[in-house]
Amino acid sequence: MFVSTRGGAVPQDAPSVILTGLAPDGGLYVPEELPKIPLEEIESMGGAGYTAWARRVLGALLPAFSEAALGQAIDTAYASFCDPAVAPLTPLETGTYLLELYHGPTLAFKDIALTLLPHLAVLSKQALREARELLVLVATSGDTGKAALEGFRDVQGTRCVVFYPDEGVSPAQRLQMLTQRGENTHVFAVAGNFDDCQSGVKRLFQDQALAKRLQGLGRRLCSANSINYGRLAPQVVYYFYAYAQLLARGAVQAGQPVHFAVPTGNFGNILAADYARRMGLPVGRLLCASNRNHVLADFLTSGEYNTQRDFHTTLSPSMDILISSNLERLLFELCGRDAAQVRTWMLSLGETGRYHIGPQAMSKLSQVFRGDWADDAQTARQIRKIYQRTGRVLDPHTAVASTVLDAYRTETFDTTPCVLVATASPFKFGKDVLAALGEETYGLDDFAACERLAALTGVQVPSAIAGLPNLPVRFGQRILAGQMEEALLSILG
Ligand SMILES: *Cc1c(COP(=O)(O)O)cnc(C)c1O
Repeated sequence: MFVSTRGGAVPQDAPSVILTGLAPDGGLYVPEELPKIPLEEIESMGGAGYTAWARRVLGALLPAFSEAALGQAIDTAYASFCDPAVAPLTPLETGTYLLELYHGPTLAFKDIALTLLPHLAVLSKQALREARELLVLVATSGDTGKAALEGFRDVQGTRCVVFYPDEGVSPAQRLQMLTQRGENTHVFAVAGNFDDCQSGVKRLFQDQALAKRLQGLGRRLCSANSINYGRLAPQVVYYFYAYAQLLARGAVQAGQPVHFAVPTGNFGNILAADYARRMGLPVGRLLCASNRNHVLADFLTSGEYNTQRDFHTTLSPSMDILISSNLERLLFELCGRDAAQVRTWMLSLGETGRYHIGPQAMSKLSQVFRGDWADDAQTARQIRKIYQRTGRVLDPHTAVASTVLDAYRTETFDTTPCVLVATASPFKFGKDVLAALGEETYGLDDFAACERLAALTGVQVPSAIAGLPNLPVRFGQRILAGQMEEALLSILG
């Protein structure tokens, strides 16, 4: 069963939690108890493939679904990846490995969860005998939107509606969404930033009058954002898989800790790493990397979460976030699952835009997490530096984490092996990456820049990007943040 981080909701099983998203008390659902996977088993599974690991880890995290149904969902979801390893781990430099999470249909790590979520949603509908159409609402900082649209495209009994910040996504990200196919897909540009989109979607979920109205229309709201436990669980898998790959190649001994450096925005990816650790994976440190919107880095250093600051658009748009929703799940663990304490902090966040966790929670936090950040200039320098050192091209998000990792090592002389979590293909940000490599980009659009990048690095432009300029644009509606409900109702006729 699953409980709310704010303690005010009746415990639910996995199908309800997946279809509900946010708990009715405003909290996030978490498993009543995290399962353990013993070290001996991690060792003996060693070189197993990604889908075998997914069966094992998701079987433990989502026991409500039958092994056969879950297995089939996993096989179908990950067959859409262009690399059969799904999440290949490749050596980058001595002691550093790149976990490549960008080989899915939309070239970002969101695909790992969002190719599977629609299957989990359909299974949940069946389990609950839910006949209503699922209205999947998504707020996106760029990558979630496309991945959700692609995942839910033409899935029967579902409709996917995406809200993205008009000025907050890269040209390729925007075009990926605006050219989305599918009879059941809808895209709206919102005048505002990601936090406006996310807050707007959260409000829609908490609007009882809207829920009633949708009920009458035979619809039910469902979230594909990482507040949904069905997004989080699939992300735990690749941390186990990465460690198993290191074991299989003899890079670590069983039980030896490994650090992970994670480019972080909404805190979903790195939280999955912490869940893996709580489930028994030998995780050393989790390096939480932010861009200039470094609320998290400041929080991890000072214990104060403070959103009262300017918002910046950066080279790493998927991390341009001031309110990291999934942090609430970590807070719940840090205070010993004291829901009243979480409520107090969240109330303070709502009323004053800030909260401070006490020294006790802070000391637990610092045992594992470490936060740091990199600005755009550092990020661009790092892309160039890593290319010169290794011949590999990082996307700006991954480069932020790479910068933070280098700084950590310089400061601590820590030689523990580290996995750098690579969250997007550099071709999603072609022009910025090309410029970072010191190439002339004047007069090039993103797609011409990708061609240049391909010629320079000898890596082909992925077909998901190369074909984009030839696809018809299907959406173009721009709305104000206050018009999200209206927009939603407009597509229901
Ligand atoms: C979403 C995203 C992130 C941030 O992940 P969170 O789970 O929100 O912390 C980082 N990089 C890329 C490329 C992303 O799409």
